Amino acid sequence: MIIKDIALAKLILTQGNLLAIPTETVYGLAANAFDASAIANIYLVKNRPQFNPLIIHSNSLERFFNWGLQLPESALALAHAFSPGPITFVVPKSDAIPDLVTAGQNTVAIRIPNHPITLELLGSLDFPLAAPSANLSGSVSPTCAEDVEAQLGNRIGAILDGGRCRVGLESTILSFVDNKPKLLRLGGLSIEKIEQVLKIKLDTTALINNENPQAPGMMSRHYAPKTPLYLDAAENHLQEANYNEMAFIGFKVKHPNIVGSNQIILSEKGDYAEAAQQLFAAIRMADSMGKKLIIAELLPAENLGLAINDRLKRAAVK
Ligand code: AMP
Ligand code: MG
Repeated sequence: MIIKDIALAKLILTQGNLLAIPTETVYGLAANAFDASAIANIYLVKNRPQFNPLIIHSNSLERFFNWGLQLPESALALAHAFSPGPITFVVPKSDAIPDLVTAGQNTVAIRIPNHPITLELLGSLDFPLAAPSANLSGSVSPTCAEDVEAQLGNRIGAILDGGRCRVGLESTILSFVDNKPKLLRLGGLSIEKIEQVLKIKLDTTALINNENPQAPGMMSRHYAPKTPLYLDAAENHLQEANYNEMAFIGFKVKHPNIVGSNQIILSEKGDYAEAAQQLFAAIRMADSMGKKLIIAELLPAENLGLAINDRLKRAAVK
């Protein structure tokens, strides 16, 4: 059921039920973070591995402080620059946060999402919301209410409609557990913007060293369509499919040989933010064309191109 009424959304959550919420990144599958049985339901409905911790959301830093959480100075500087926004902070856990939320870890991930409806909802609640993306574990993240309805509609209380997600990629996750910030997941806020505020090079070794096996960016197959997706040249796949049987996801320009109507261009003007916003819808649309395979093009490795490429690589894992 898709709803627009914030008071009804609040009721659903306070009664311990699941509610899909709009955020600027992707839609989240939310529950009262202090209600262990509601949290257990998130894992059940998503078929999410129990070792994969959840991000908790609220509408202000002060509320996180009141729940016993602390941010070091570098995190505070980033929060002041980018929160509400697509940035998540991993910090030491407090006793207020149930173990089920953090999958037994002694750290917790927190975020202030930048969506007016969800900020209003969060402000009306006396608990934070635990919310992973509102899709079955391993599949493409939802960027509009209808995406959620199609996959989870009959298994959750309701979907609060907030329109199409503006950023379209999950949040960038940084850990502040060691003495210097560490990037755990590429996401909707670019490394370049983060480094401008921190005035130091970000430690990205966790991405390469698989230090955070829980992060979706580190899990092998994720964001995966049913149609096999490849990142190399269409020409390499002519044994399996002719050009009519391929869908194409490109950054700025169409593929010269694949049929025009089978092609989705993420941003004709080459804008990374626009490409990010379109990405998951493009993967869904290419999948729905019912072709033998999907060819996707990697973007330049800078700015949000890095996070987009990360998602495409996970989508391509067989
Ligand atoms: P999702 O909301 O589906 O994008 O998933 C949230 C992601 O946040 C998880 O997959 C984890 O990688 C990350 N996360 C949540 N809590 C922690 C934590 N305590 N430490 C490290 N990563 C975390
Ligand atoms: Mg997810």
